[in-house]
Amino acid sequence: MSNRQTDLSSQTAAASDAQPNDFDLITIGAGSGGLSVVERAASYGAKCLIIESDVMGGTCVNRGCVPKKVMWYSANLAHAMHHAADYGFDVKAGKLDWKKLVAKRENMIGGINDWYYEFLAEAGVELIEGKARFVNAKTIAVDGAQYTADRIVISTGGRPADPPADLPGADLVISSDGFFELDEAQPAKVAVVGGGYIALELAGVLNALGTETHLLHQGHSVLRGFDADIRAALRKQMDKEGIQSNTQDKITAVEQQADGRLSIHLADGTVITDLDQVLWAVGRVPNTDDIGIENTGITLARGGLIDVDDYQETHVAGLYALGDIINKRGVQLTPVAIAAGRRLADRLYGGMAGRKLDYQLIPTVMFTHPPIGTIGLTEAEARAQYGETVKVYSTEFNPMYYAFTQHKVKTLMKLIVVGEEEKVVGCHLLGKDVDEMLQGFAVAIKMGATKQDFDDTVAIHPVSAEELVTMKKPIG
Ligand SMILES: Cc1cc2nc3c(=O)[nH]c(=O)nc-3n(C[C@H](O)[C@H](O)[C@H](O)COP(=O)(O)OP(=O)(O)OC[C@H]3O[C@@H](n4cnc5c(N)ncnc54)[C@H](O)[C@@H]3O)c2cc1C
Repeated sequence: MSNRQTDLSSQTAAASDAQPNDFDLITIGAGSGGLSVVERAASYGAKCLIIESDVMGGTCVNRGCVPKKVMWYSANLAHAMHHAADYGFDVKAGKLDWKKLVAKRENMIGGINDWYYEFLAEAGVELIEGKARFVNAKTIAVDGAQYTADRIVISTGGRPADPPADLPGADLVISSDGFFELDEAQPAKVAVVGGGYIALELAGVLNALGTETHLLHQGHSVLRGFDADIRAALRKQMDKEGIQSNTQDKITAVEQQADGRLSIHLADGTVITDLDQVLWAVGRVPNTDDIGIENTGITLARGGLIDVDDYQETHVAGLYALGDIINKRGVQLTPVAIAAGRRLADRLYGGMAGRKLDYQLIPTVMFTHPPIGTIGLTEAEARAQYGETVKVYSTEFNPMYYAFTQHKVKTLMKLIVVGEEEKVVGCHLLGKDVDEMLQGFAVAIKMGATKQDFDDTVAIHPVSAEELVTMKKPIG
């Protein structure tokens, strides 16, 4: 690997001799990671180029976090209208104008896309819109022109995995990208295929908005890798909410009916008919298959992902990768890509030798119904790692908000602690408002908080979060 010390003086000298197409840093992909690394690097005086082949902002802004969260808010409002009536308001749950909602959402996203042009211009970063391919480890070609840099960051993100090509009717399904393109009318009946967070979030949104929602996933549990109690509680609540799950998901065919709607056939003989959409959400694949990676010397890891060291550097000196394409599990998140990009720029151009992203204890939220917030080890992981020294504090309760409502959602909280000092190594939450609750607790846990620190913190009353600092008996 290359020398990690920053030498700004030599870079400034190199930049002054540079040809117009020579840069200190080129980034492929203007998504969460790419935009962050060039903006920070340019703030230190590096001459930066960013190349984007699609819309500005990447997955999060256009087909991920942002449109998803808008839909999640609208789904929450659908619930809240019923809750308001239960609280005594003279309201009748109205019908959603899907077309209007989607138009507003896309208008908002258009504004963010436009803002990125100003953001780059203000940062002094050059932008080229086109598809980048490596010519060699220091040269990129876009539409016939070539650009060189000593350092190149690959931040090309991912795309939804397609159904198997031999699945009859594979071309009839839509992906999460396709879900966000449904701009005319709300589908009346949808089958969502997948058990990961994207499938569950979108199934939750559709169901709350009144779409008849069928969830087809393999095995009895969802959200593999999450704490078992949280997975089970979510599963139970999804059933209560009316999402119809089928765990025998060997799908044998998708067919178009005479009326244009779809039916889906399962290996156990089940046929689900009259579907407006089949939403295929079974994972994502990295965009590393068509960027000329073979010209760089990088050998791709499992599934086309890229191995990097602790400093985001690949095994080819001067080539870095960050964001969704790196070979680390469970870190395919916008703030992770952003943090990795900024720290990389700090180290390469900001004089902060040794600066890097710590991939441990990354908090995350699933915008399911109800939401999940999670950080650190699951109970099973902690027991495997720390054995007998693990204790679990847990509580399940009905939040006061639901005291009057017919629709009830329990909250589940788990703290996983280890050793004599009861250091908190995992925190897993499911229930109303946990999405806004976790960030602050994540700071404490990242700082090494113990159960005693939680106990010593005076509760805020009456909020659900107070339960996290008032848990009494460990359950094992
Ligand atoms: C439905 C959904 C919901 C999500 N919700 C959340 C959430 O709530 N919270 C969260 O933290 N994360 C969420 N994510 C994940 C988040 O979107 C990603 O982790 C994040 O966008 C990764 O950033 P990135 O920079 O690695 O890639 P991206 O943001 O995907 O950016 C990559 C960019 O590279 C461009 N590109 C690719 N190939 C080339 C090429 N050859 N030349 C030029 N440009 C190229 C692409 O067009 C794209 O703009 C969600 C994702 C999805 C799909």
